[in-house]
Amino acid sequence: MLLISRPALDLLTSEELQALAAHEIGHEYISGQYADAKARKDARRLRELELICDGIAIVTLTRLGIEPERLGSAVEKVFWYNRGRLGEALDADNYRSVQERRRLIKKMTSNPPSKPLFQRRKP
Ligand SMILES: [Zn+2]
Repeated sequence: MLLISRPALDLLTSEELQALAAHEIGHEYISGQYADAKARKDARRLRELELICDGIAIVTLTRLGIEPERLGSAVEKVFWYNRGRLGEALDADNYRSVQERRRLIKKMTSNPPSKPLFQRRKP
């Protein structure tokens, strides 16, 4: 189940909501690892896992024909909305910065890729 707040509905475009939903779907793939990292209070691993969810979202959005940058604009809007209303999040250490998340989007969508994300092994 995915709950969407009223302010998010007002703040975000349809594609930005889809981008955040794609990120949340990413959590389904790594839920066990995420729970382990959270139980260990391993902020570094939690940040890595959040970025993996962004990667899953970027692939999903690309396949749906939605500009992956919608994830970047959504993350930035939500960050500044929350910062303005609530101040700095208590669990901020568990998340990548907006800039880092946008760098991943750029890296994964640059054409040709600025640097290969994976290397194919030579036979
Ligand atoms: Zn997440």
